[in-house]
Amino acid sequence: SIAGVAWVGYGIYQDRHPDEQIEPDPSKKTLVILGTGWGSVSLLKRLDTENYNVIVISPRNYFLFTPLLPSCTTGTIEHRSIMEPIRTILRQKKASVKYYEAEATSIDPERKIVRVTDNSEVKGATTETEVPYDMLVIGVGAENATFGIPGVRENSCFLKEIGDAQLIRKKIMDCVETAAFKDQSPEEIDRLLHMVVVGGGPTGVEFAGELQDFFEEDIKKLIPEISDRFRVTLIEALPNVLPSFSKQLIEYTESTFKEEKIDIKTKTMVKKVTDKTVEAEMQGPNGKEKVVFPYGLLVWATGNAVRPVIRDLMAKIPAQKDSRRGLAVNEYLVVQGTRDIWAVGDCAVAGYAPTAQVAGQEGTFLARLLNNMAKTEALEEKIRDLSGSLNLKPGNAAEVSREIEEYERQLRRIKDVKPFHYSHQGSLAYIGSEKAVADVSWFNGNVASGGSLTYLFWRSAYLSMCFSSRNRLLVINDWLKSKLFGRDVSR
Ligand code: NAD
Repeated sequence: SIAGVAWVGYGIYQDRHPDEQIEPDPSKKTLVILGTGWGSVSLLKRLDTENYNVIVISPRNYFLFTPLLPSCTTGTIEHRSIMEPIRTILRQKKASVKYYEAEATSIDPERKIVRVTDNSEVKGATTETEVPYDMLVIGVGAENATFGIPGVRENSCFLKEIGDAQLIRKKIMDCVETAAFKDQSPEEIDRLLHMVVVGGGPTGVEFAGELQDFFEEDIKKLIPEISDRFRVTLIEALPNVLPSFSKQLIEYTESTFKEEKIDIKTKTMVKKVTDKTVEAEMQGPNGKEKVVFPYGLLVWATGNAVRPVIRDLMAKIPAQKDSRRGLAVNEYLVVQGTRDIWAVGDCAVAGYAPTAQVAGQEGTFLARLLNNMAKTEALEEKIRDLSGSLNLKPGNAAEVSREIEEYERQLRRIKDVKPFHYSHQGSLAYIGSEKAVADVSWFNGNVASGGSLTYLFWRSAYLSMCFSSRNRLLVINDWLKSKLFGRDVSR
């Protein structure tokens, strides 16, 4: 444990006192990276920034550790514990990187420029401009899918960004306090304390579990008079929740939810949402049936949709005509129909699920590719120079030829970059009451496990994946704090 403390201490010291950075060199190519999520930040982590003039553009000036986002909705974890400022990340790089807090609104692949808008609240400042690039990496992610279902955007909370989690946390307490208000009618108490989650993917399941924990461990003790009225309902259109997990874990999750009194409504497709009700079509034994769920809080977690900036770019590239779910990329993550644009993460379609794990591996792969490309160019230049000097210094010809050969050997090795291949490490999900499910690859086999030990595994896995030592300390502190003192229910 002393070694552990020393390791954390050294990490913190290094983060605080990085070496002086090399200044940008205008003779180098400009590499623009859009986004600060899993794909872009994994790329930045391993990119040798001294090879390019790197510019990062993102409206979010921090990296967000999304796997723990559901825990922020109930205050098990405080939101700042899973945020890492992009400025801190960039300060660690050998060569300095420019960062602009702005949203890319359109990309012109002909003129090789990105149009950006800064949504700043500061009045009178420049808020729109163009950024030219030589090479572009797009890692802007996706937006929430609503399938155009009426009322969803206006009435539900999503769970993608930190602001979403903060809003949910406030709304849960608003519903609880309003239900506990003097002379509240019984129907209204039932409605306010009915928390509806739409979408039985990992996001919906983890959120429902966290919500039930919050209620059981804290709200029930603090406001016992409403405790028998609180209900969580999870609505899923397919016949079961967690479709990407193994059958055994689906059953385990469903039976755990039953014990936790989370009501799962499968084969139920939401068709319309109003400010107080969710209207759905349920596939019953006697055919379709209409059901109405009055709710206090509605969380919408039905997966991803393509962002407008990506849709707009796809329309400009004929080779993207048949792609639906995002930018089609080749096995080197180059956007089909372009030569100098790459895409990573949820905005790219590379044949894998839109997960943090895939985006992270794509970013790491791209860093290696871009580092290699820079090395290749440097070696090719050296070979050109040496070949030119062969005739000038005939006495050294043998030595120079040997040097050229050595460089060519290095070049062949570097140029031999294997295409991107995703290596699935497994899927993990928290399901409430200190239980988790895991489908993990282990020595070429698959291990499916669920329960309390898996929960410890879930915790340690996520802890080790946290971005920085600072994040890790904060998360441990939050876990301890909520266990010892309960979650903070102030709004
Ligand atoms: P998802 O796409 O995995 O699940 C959405 C679910 O909503 C689907 O099962 C779909 O059938 C259902 N749905 C869609 N429309 C509906 C409607 N009108 N009524 C009822 N149900 C409807 O979405 P997600 O959970 O947000 O996950 C997105 C991606 O992120 C996935 O690839 C997922 O694997 C990944 N993810 C992984 C983890 C984890 O591993 N712990 C956590 C969060 C997200």
